[in-house]
Amino acid sequence: MIIKNSDYAVSAVREDQYPKDNLPEIALAGRSNVGKSSLINTLLKRKNLARTSSQPGKTQTLNFYIVNEEFYLVDVPGYGYAKVSQKQREAFGEMIQDYLETRPNLKGLIILVDARHEPTKDDIAMYDYAQYLNLPILVVCTKMDKIKKSQVNKVLSNLKKHLDLSYENVSVLTFSSVSKLHVKELGDWIEKHLED
Ligand code: GDP
Repeated sequence: MIIKNSDYAVSAVREDQYPKDNLPEIALAGRSNVGKSSLINTLLKRKNLARTSSQPGKTQTLNFYIVNEEFYLVDVPGYGYAKVSQKQREAFGEMIQDYLETRPNLKGLIILVDARHEPTKDDIAMYDYAQYLNLPILVVCTKMDKIKKSQVNKVLSNLKKHLDLSYENVSVLTFSSVSKLHVKELGDWIEKHLED
């Protein structure tokens, strides 16, 4: 996929705020600090379109980015952030569920996991939930530049230990916003699923 242009479009917490132009959407979900904003910026070749920060848990809305005037990338708030109240967490959960379960424009879900750690309980829950939604899933292992060559297989076997990757609708990609590993493949997966 060639990225010609991209822009922030809108933030939403409920359905009547979602874009109304009926373009396909690809959502990105992951634990806070997993590298989601960095991945969006890297893919779109933008420095600061999605906010990156080492302070997790900032984004609390669904953020829609329009790409090539053709589709939306939807940044889903990071989960597993301990410092929000139970009430806030339930509200995020509902917002995310409403979007993922009812949005006909949604064509695929990218789940980010940090290559440096085994998938967490939250990662596993997100993955199982995505399977239940029956969406095409791309599992992206972020921050691969931090992994020694000799440990790459270990990252993938850890992933397989916790997530059943044998489903037909699941692909896996290693990725780094620092080394730009597999940026093209990420774009290709998105492009492939926009039409489905
Ligand atoms: P988000 O909370 O998921 O949006 O995560 P961010 O994109 O803000 O990244 C969280 C932290 O991880 C920041 O300090 C980033 O610089 C760092 N980070 C993100 N992607 C990578 C990567 O590919 N490699 C390395 N080494 N660090 C990364």
